[in-house]
Amino acid sequence: MPTDHHYNDLNNDLIKRDAEVLWHPYSAAPAPIPPYAVKSASGTRLTLHDGRQLIDGMSSWWAVIHGYNNPALNAAMTSQLDEMAHVMFGGLTHEPAVLLAEKLLAMSPPGLARVFFSDSGSVAVEVAIKMALQYWFSLGRPAKKRLLTIRQGYHGDTFATMSVCDPVNGMHHLFSDLLMPQLFVKAPQIPFAGIWDESEMDEITELVKARHAELAAIILEPIVQGAGGMRFYHPQYLSRVRALCDEYDLLLIADEIATGFGRTGELFACNYAGITPDILCLGKALTGGYMSFAATLTKAFVSEVISQKWPGVLMHGPTFMANPLACSVALASINLLENSPWQERVAEIEGLLQVGLEPCRELPGVKDVRVLGAIGVVETSDPVDVKRVQERVVERGVWLRPFANLCYTMPPFITEADEVKQITSAICEALS
Ligand SMILES: *Cc1c(COP(=O)(O)O)cnc(C)c1O
Repeated sequence: MPTDHHYNDLNNDLIKRDAEVLWHPYSAAPAPIPPYAVKSASGTRLTLHDGRQLIDGMSSWWAVIHGYNNPALNAAMTSQLDEMAHVMFGGLTHEPAVLLAEKLLAMSPPGLARVFFSDSGSVAVEVAIKMALQYWFSLGRPAKKRLLTIRQGYHGDTFATMSVCDPVNGMHHLFSDLLMPQLFVKAPQIPFAGIWDESEMDEITELVKARHAELAAIILEPIVQGAGGMRFYHPQYLSRVRALCDEYDLLLIADEIATGFGRTGELFACNYAGITPDILCLGKALTGGYMSFAATLTKAFVSEVISQKWPGVLMHGPTFMANPLACSVALASINLLENSPWQERVAEIEGLLQVGLEPCRELPGVKDVRVLGAIGVVETSDPVDVKRVQERVVERGVWLRPFANLCYTMPPFITEADEVKQITSAICEALS
């Protein structure tokens, strides 16, 4: 039996060696705030090498909806492993890919007809953009090559996706000279449950009227803007943008990489407005957080135009496209979701987040508290002291990763009531 002393030695050793060789997301190297070393994870809990256990209030960035080390997901992967871990998708197919595509089309908003698999969310958005541009190219209208989007969005870290992230707080302004120039309108201001006012549409309607001849598509995160500001906007905005796209001949790309698979309280955030986008991007929770995997779904008319007119093929094909392990675990994750009372669980978490985060409203420096589905956000007036807040929540047995002026949580759907309370009280105490 290794002693606690041994664990601490290994813990410190890993953190020290990490600082010598690794580079972490959106970080300097070595990371100015040393990372916590995770030994294992099960259910809602991360076990650190120093022996501490933390409730994961982040679901590993929206992904781990069923918790870690889930027996059904483990079984799906190991049994697929016995068949084949991988096979190329060029000229070959396999059951996990066919089953998963059928499943995704059956569960997503009606009218989507074809699935293109890729390895990560950013690539799924790249593919969506490429589909939109190629669609208009194929129709002989190559001038329609710009994208319109709303500010405070986040769509990924690759070059095309950076061009549609918020141009100011989108973390990418450094590259602005190199990015495809896109059109931006202010983010919708009316909150999710606010009172709808038609003037919300003024700016976007005017811009679409003036520039539709050069616009290929509108791209947005439906209802919830994630990493660009954790904002929740009114469903009517989404309905009206859908109508605007129809009226002015633009494709609508919905990026549901963060919101897909129940997080907002609806299976897909588009369902709040009852709309179907022309192209839908999925990722993050697609595999229940087991593997990096993503999908771009589209309506038949898009794939038909691209396939029937010159050059007749979609110019994209990742090496690990439709990886069988990823498809299998995604299928198992969706089955688990569909066979669970996820709607009640998300609603229960929503209620607990509302009650538990309410006291934060009274804290000095807190600007807003908002909750939708299993997402709870505390926005502060000044940037959060990430190191200090993180240390304080970790002391209280909770894992969170605040950014900018946001301290937020989106726990796994299996999180128990007392665990949600532990998360919300840790946030309130850490911010006070
Ligand atoms: C995370 C995210 C992406 C990028 O996904 P990666 O897997 O990190 O490349 C794109 N869009 C949205 C809305 C996201 O939340």
